[in-house]
Formats: sequence, C-alpha cells, structure tokens
Amino acid sequence: MTTFQHGASSDTGRVRTANQDALLAEDGRFVVADGMGGHLGGEIASQLTVDSMAEAAKPTSLDDVVVMVRDANDYVIDYATKHPDVRGMGTTVCLLMALSTDGPDRLAVANVGDSRLYLRDRRGLQRLTRDHSLVEALVREGRISADEAAVHPQRNILTQALGIDRRVQLDVWELVPRNGDRFLICSDGLHGELTDATIDEILSTNPSPQAAADALVLAACEAGGRDNVTVVVVDVADSPDDTVLSDDTVLPDDTVAPDDPVVNARLGVVTRSVPRPMAAPPRPEPVASVDSGNDTSPDGSLRGPGVVTWRVAAFAVAVVLVLSGLLVAVAMIGRGGYSVVVDDTGTVVVLQGPPDGFLWFNPTIEVMSDIDITELLPADRQNVRSGPDFGSLDEARVYLEYLTTRLISETDN
Ligand code: MN
Repeated sequence: MTTFQHGASSDTGRVRTANQDALLAEDGRFVVADGMGGHLGGEIASQLTVDSMAEAAKPTSLDDVVVMVRDANDYVIDYATKHPDVRGMGTTVCLLMALSTDGPDRLAVANVGDSRLYLRDRRGLQRLTRDHSLVEALVREGRISADEAAVHPQRNILTQALGIDRRVQLDVWELVPRNGDRFLICSDGLHGELTDATIDEILSTNPSPQAAADALVLAACEAGGRDNVTVVVVDVADSPDDTVLSDDTVLPDDTVAPDDPVVNARLGVVTRSVPRPMAAPPRPEPVASVDSGNDTSPDGSLRGPGVVTWRVAAFAVAVVLVLSGLLVAVAMIGRGGYSVVVDDTGTVVVLQGPPDGFLWFNPTIEVMSDIDITELLPADRQNVRSGPDFGSLDEARVYLEYLTTRLISETDN
C-alpha cells in the first residue's frame, strides 16, 4: 500500500498582483492549475478545476481520470457561459493521483497545458510531461532549439487549456510508484525561473517535502518571480511493514540497479493512452491556441503577447541607432519580425515589420491565408486579434497551420 508525504506552496511572485494558480494536495490527489484571464477569471478557472477534482469520486482507472479532467473542463466552460465578465478564462492542469485498485499500486498522471510533472529518483530529475505550448511544438518539429524556446516571445501561447473548448485533449497515463520516488508538480512560474539543475539541487538537499516546496518557491521568487509560482512535492513511501522512509533518510545509490526493468518499465510508461475526444480534429497534436497568458490584460482578454514590449524595445534601440547614424540598421529593425494580424476584409495575414509601422517603414503582407477570422474559435480569434509576433516567417507559418486545423467546420458544430 503506497503512502504519500507531501508539501505544497504557492506564491504570487514579485511582479503579479494576484495569484491565479491553485493547488490540491490531499487524499492521494495532487493537482496544480495555472489560470489565465482577467477580471478574476484566471483565479476562478484554476480554483473551479481544483474544486471539481477534490469533489470527484475516487478514481479507479485512467478512464475515471479522463472523465475527471473533462468534467473540470465543462465546469469551467459552464461557469464562463453564465458569467460573461470572465469569458475567455482558462487554466492548465497537471495532476498525479493514486488509483484505488485491488491490484498493484498505480498512479495516474494527466496533463493539459504547460504546468509540469517531474520525477526525481536515483537516476536524477526527469520531466515526465510534455508542454502543450507553441514553443514545445516548434522544438519537436526541430524549428527552434530548447534554449531558444526558453526565451521565445511566444512561449506563453498554449495549444491546450481547460475552459476554452469542449474538445480538450489531454495526455494521460499510469505509472508504478516506487519507494523513494519524489514527484514535483509545478506551474510555469517555477520552471520558467529555475533550470532543471537548480530544481534538482533543491529537491535533493531538502529531505522534507514541505521544506523542498518552500525552498523551490523562494528560489523562483528570488530568481525574478515574474509569474505566480506553485509547487507540490510528493514523496512515495510504502506501508509501515515495508521500508518506511523518514524525512531524513538518505537513499543509498545502489538500492536499485541502473537497469532495473521495473524502473525502466515505469519510466517507459506502463500504460500510455491519449484518448481521443469526441469530434476530435483528425490530427494527433493538440492544436487549440490559447495565450496562457499567465498575465492578462485588464479588459479580460487573453494577453496580447509582446507587442508593447517590442515597441518599447524597438524605440530604445532606434534612438541609439539613429544617433549613431546607422540608418541601415534602422531599416533592418523596420523590416524585421513577423506578426499575424487580421486585414480589413477579415482575412488572417502575416505581416513583416511591426503591425503599426516603424519610423518610415510600413509593414508588408507576406502571407495571405485562407482563414477568415469568423471561422476561428473564440479563443483563437482573441489570440489573433492580439497580433502575436514571431521571429521568423517559418514560425508564423506554423502558427497559421495550427489555426487552420482549428477552423470551425460544419461537422464540428
Ligand atoms: Mn503561470
């Protein structure tokens, strides 16, 4: 019988005024949700998700967990339908849950969005979930490197989130817990501020899960704390008859052979299933494009990524360059960068150059898509209206491809 010791901590961080993250850590259910949306929307979406999961019946199978996530999704959507002031809100969810079964112990993992589950065992720290984000898709397709992804201006765009679409797709699978495993569930306020090496270091030097959770949150705040930070640390121990790990137990390195098939089997994922939602689009990759925002505009819309920052940066750079007489460089700035916007006729297009022009440079249309803004789902529409910008035409085209897969078709509605 598996037992857990856990610690949990959450902080608004050093920049935001509200904490839109929520967590659950009780009764073998460990959940982190990172909400987005103005007018309290983010806080509501993440809290509704966590509440919904706290109240659900105890899961005994992966199917139960899938239902639990879908119910939370419906719960958030239904709430937003009744409360227009929070329309457009959404949330990530990343969870680890004990499945109550008669057989061997099993843990269920489920993920939607860019909160993460890590496992730290004798082999070190491993990330078990993939992010549902535009940059992770770009990395998987080999278009940008992991280092580029970490600083990419569009790294907040999620490709899946709860509360946006009834057809949410999730990753879900089982794993077999082992004595001494330490799991970490966290929002992007943690993994956006700290490297995996730092996270590993903190987890390894804090035997108590609560101390580890507190130390991780503190470190993320001290590293900048630009986003809300939420952490749940879960230690796995067996029943008292078995080897019980005290908080101070240091595990000998040779307890598990490196090629232990059980370890490999569980990391290779005992059962992995990515259930297809009803009326799912026919592609394997999740494609709803939602600005995770994590920071939101006061009017309740999802955040327009990076536009203001770009203008401010471009202006500062321009002043320096003009003073230096480097007009050629100014021209490069005026022409550089791509943004996806809607033209006068409602068609989604890719512009080269800042959408509002820059000095005497006017943006030019590089790509006319076949997408009409009215054919997009509300979340995508909001996202496009925010004018997301991209470093290369290639990346802007990938974004158009995502949008194309999301077009509202007769069969979907
Ligand atoms: Mn966040």
